[in-house]
Amino acid sequence: MKKIPLLDLKAQMAPIREELLQAVAKVLDNGQYIMGPEVKAFEEEVARYVGVKHAIGVANGTDALLLALDAAGVGAGDEVITTPFTFFATAEVVSQLGATPVFVDIDEKTYNIDVKQIEAKITDKTKAIIPVHIFGQPANMDEIMALAEAHNLFVLEDSAQALGSEYKGRKIGTLGHAATYSFFPTKNLGGYGDGGMVVTNDDELAQKIRILRVHGSNPKYYHSMIGYNSRLDEMQAAMLRIKLRHLDDWNNGRRERAALYNELLKDTPLVTPYAAEDRKHIYHLYIVQADDRDQLMAYLKEKGISTGVYYPVPLHQQDVYKPLGYEKGSLPVSEYMSNRTFALPLYAELETETIHMIVDTIKEYYANN
Ligand SMILES: *Cc1c(COP(=O)(O)O)cnc(C)c1O
Repeated sequence: MKKIPLLDLKAQMAPIREELLQAVAKVLDNGQYIMGPEVKAFEEEVARYVGVKHAIGVANGTDALLLALDAAGVGAGDEVITTPFTFFATAEVVSQLGATPVFVDIDEKTYNIDVKQIEAKITDKTKAIIPVHIFGQPANMDEIMALAEAHNLFVLEDSAQALGSEYKGRKIGTLGHAATYSFFPTKNLGGYGDGGMVVTNDDELAQKIRILRVHGSNPKYYHSMIGYNSRLDEMQAAMLRIKLRHLDDWNNGRRERAALYNELLKDTPLVTPYAAEDRKHIYHLYIVQADDRDQLMAYLKEKGISTGVYYPVPLHQQDVYKPLGYEKGSLPVSEYMSNRTFALPLYAELETETIHMIVDTIKEYYANN
């Protein structure tokens, strides 16, 4: 039986393997292993790709959020509004800074923060909003920016899953006051280890993040603030530069395969992803809904098809956030979706025939259940 992974990183790597090895060799021979020319070039290339003034490489996507919020002045006693339907890091960094995450429920179609419910959660302690472009689908940025302007809030786009996504013809990452990316291996632009980046058009914010990532020093050994050791690795940058050239092709490959899934899954009970007309969804994950999710996932696993749940527990229901006092049912859409959504295999190298086979297996399950 042929096993089908959720994501096949080796298949993506194979055609560029030689180029990657040459890039690593270049770094080894160059001898500058931290903050060398590859990091600088990659930062410039990402800034150009996204269409922003500044791109600052950091150690990972979590640190990108942390340093950006720190630079924006988020700290003890502040509140930061975000979604509970995301990876833990989005809220974790808020807590690390001594601030409190305030969770707003999600929209049932896009899985993004429900902008209609944000205003009711704004208090005089609210300092920032972190929309997450979840699964590669842009959040409603116009409405979020209008609220932010009215209430003088900092907006940080968590774009870890959305490098290359577009909103009304503009690239994600240019819409808020700053945005962050992750180069964790499974992300649409993934390295071979950890990596992250902050982008912004704000000169002052960018300068502060550049200082924060090197222990708050400028120049070296002269410390003006308490910072971090959080730099993008030179070897990762060298390899990511090669991969960035393929990103649009890979994202388009995902979009084409998602469209095929949508078409083929039409006459099944599964709810397929919604993609708003005015946005370019890059399908970091292809998420569907099923009433009998766990049973269907078990059936697919038996047939060699990997699937995954993103995310099984919404953040307001995580043990560590129990003290925040969210009752069961308080954010009903995210709780409901956590029990019924899951991801099907999706990557640019996934064969059309394999997609047909996966859908046939799903239909076979429903024929018998
Ligand atoms: C992956 C991810 C992060 C964290 O990125 P790391 O590079 O793993 O630290 C943050 N937010 C979201 C939405 C993510 O998917």
